[in-house]
Amino acid sequence: MSEKNDEQMIDEIGLEQNFLGSVEAGKSLPTEELPEHPMPASIAAQLVQHHRLNEAKANQNLATFCTTQMEPEADKLMTDALNTNAIDKSEYPKTAAMENYCVSMLAHLWGIPKGKKMYKDFIGTSTVGSSEGCMLGGLSLLLSWKHRAEKAGFDTKDLHHHLPNLVIMSGYQVVWEKFCTYWNVELRQVPIDQNHMSMDMDHVMDYVDENTIGIVGIQGITYTGAVDDIQKLDRLVSEYNKTAVLPIRIHVDSAFGGLFAPFVDGFKPWDFRLKNVVSINVSGHKYGMVYPGIGWIVWRNNSEDLLPKEMRFSVPYLGSSVDSIAINFSHSGAHIVGQYHNFVRFGYKGYEAIMNNVRKVSLRITEELKKFGIFEILNDGSQLPINCWKLADDAKVDWTLYDLEGELAKYGWQVPAYPLPKNREDTTISRIVVRPSMTMTILDDFMEDLKMAIHNLNKEHGNNELEYNIPSAADATTVSN
Ligand SMILES: *Cc1c(COP(=O)(O)O)cnc(C)c1O
Repeated sequence: MSEKNDEQMIDEIGLEQNFLGSVEAGKSLPTEELPEHPMPASIAAQLVQHHRLNEAKANQNLATFCTTQMEPEADKLMTDALNTNAIDKSEYPKTAAMENYCVSMLAHLWGIPKGKKMYKDFIGTSTVGSSEGCMLGGLSLLLSWKHRAEKAGFDTKDLHHHLPNLVIMSGYQVVWEKFCTYWNVELRQVPIDQNHMSMDMDHVMDYVDENTIGIVGIQGITYTGAVDDIQKLDRLVSEYNKTAVLPIRIHVDSAFGGLFAPFVDGFKPWDFRLKNVVSINVSGHKYGMVYPGIGWIVWRNNSEDLLPKEMRFSVPYLGSSVDSIAINFSHSGAHIVGQYHNFVRFGYKGYEAIMNNVRKVSLRITEELKKFGIFEILNDGSQLPINCWKLADDAKVDWTLYDLEGELAKYGWQVPAYPLPKNREDTTISRIVVRPSMTMTILDDFMEDLKMAIHNLNKEHGNNELEYNIPSAADATTVSN
């Protein structure tokens, strides 16, 4: 039967508005070539929604840092703003203003003194995420190093003697490798070892020389949740700078820590309170609690020494002009609106309450993991809310954390296992990122399933049921029902 006849038949029995009875519902979705004919919007939308059916449930994805839940009011605001373009500052002056308000709030949250003003005293921009923020931070280090190096009489075209380098600990996020590759900068990695799971402060300055464009401190190492001791780094840099031809600067990559650390206890100064920190980036879509993608970068002052002229592009704004700094051009203004909404909706006290709940959940995970007696905790959630663990060396089990990842996936949970960074890559760890949407209730459910998963693995691998607190087989049936 030809397709046309199908359609005619369906029309005859009045099913044209019936999604389940539609011709399209009885066919596979087009995947390779643009289909020739249109289909009704409602049918297309339902089919696309169906196609997403077995994607991870966002709140069961314990692997991601990115926001999976906002309040309905924020959803509405963002939906309404989807048709704006953040780059058209003259057409959308209020969105542009909100962007500046957000930069200003972040700058003050990170230690820029009260009363200092955006553009006049400091500068910053929204980005699509921390990756763009890191690129901009790295570029401003590179270009300002070039200017200073040339002033000091270096021939910066002589790459044999003056190939610029960037110093960072080896557990960096991939964007730093991209930055160095794109701009021909040598990536100097300070390796981790058993005793240094963050930047090794005993050795970091050995990696620095006159061609170092800057050191990146990471306030929240993506893979483990450990933090670099940026206060100590700042002291080392101050000491070095006393006699340096080209003083060293610090950029802080606080992609996820930057909107967590300011609200909870237990962090040493890591931000603009330290005098060698020149710029900081954060992801608004991580603990800023906005859907992906939005990020931010702030420079501590608005001098061309920190943010060179060639990175500033003048765009019209309210009858005059302002500097556009971002790499990306057009993108929706919705995320800026969402971020500004969150800032005024929650305020400092709101973020504080949320982040303290996040920490509570993270600490509880550690407590529960310890009860199994087979895990060694590498990050316990007492600083950043990232839980990392490995199988203890004396754990009497024949399965791996990769097996556990697979078993948990059967219950819908995403808990990735992967090797530690360079130098300790023989150690496999599992990681949970505790996000604001992970309530204690979700954690309770996860723990039930974790017990089941371990029970199943032990059974499958013939491991004795150990002394730890897992449900009996009878309980197991009840739980899975
Ligand atoms: C997530 C992350 C990035 C990249 O951030 P995006 O917002 O995803 O672009 C960079 N650095 C660190 C430390 C991160 O955790």
